Amino acid sequence: MLRAFIGLGSNLSNKSGDSRQILRDAVSAMSRFAIGAVKVSSLYASSPMGPQDQPDYVNAAALLFTDLQPHQLLDQLQQLELNAGRIRLRRWGERTLDLDILIMDHNTPDNIQDDSSRTPSDQQSDMIKIHDERLILPHIGILDRTFVVQPLLELDAHLVIDGTSLADCTAASTTSGIRIIADLDWAD
Ligand code: ATP
Ligand code: MG
Ligand code: MG
Repeated sequence: MLRAFIGLGSNLSNKSGDSRQILRDAVSAMSRFAIGAVKVSSLYASSPMGPQDQPDYVNAAALLFTDLQPHQLLDQLQQLELNAGRIRLRRWGERTLDLDILIMDHNTPDNIQDDSSRTPSDQQSDMIKIHDERLILPHIGILDRTFVVQPLLELDAHLVIDGTSLADCTAASTTSGIRIIADLDWAD
């Protein structure tokens, strides 16, 4: 069993609803390959990265445990993007649904309970590192993205990437271009 943090984003509606509905449906679909409940962060609105002539994004992060291997999880998430009507128009352009695997590691629900005794270096050694043509883990650019770091910290305040604690990076404390639009029950 592996632990996975997923980044969710949307700034276009589809036939089933607006971005908030699309993310809600994605969380519900992810529960099909999750062991136990999928936990979500608050829901955020954020300014677009890349092209500025597109709507603001709705973002969140989700935490789940799964028996899927990383590439199998990517397959499942890309299928959900397609099901949501995602079309690739331009890099970092508008989309109905983006599901990125942010981090995967070997933590289990049991050793999370005992989090107080785990050091940041323990957590790093648990982390899965992949760099191939389909999948890069941890996801590139996490530490530079406020709309990724802030929801991730809600789910695990102790995350460390390449020796940098997420809680200590600049993106953790920036408030410009991002705001919470719903608390934890948005996906229920
Ligand atoms: P970014 O990855 O910078 O957030 P994006 O999400 O807009 O940009 P996509 O168009 O969704 O990029 O994906 C482009 C490719 O990234 C995918 O085809 C996928 O194979 C690859 N990729 C590499 N690492 C990951 C990852 N950790 N999670 C999801 N996709 C990944
Ligand atoms: Mg992305
Ligand atoms: Mg993506």
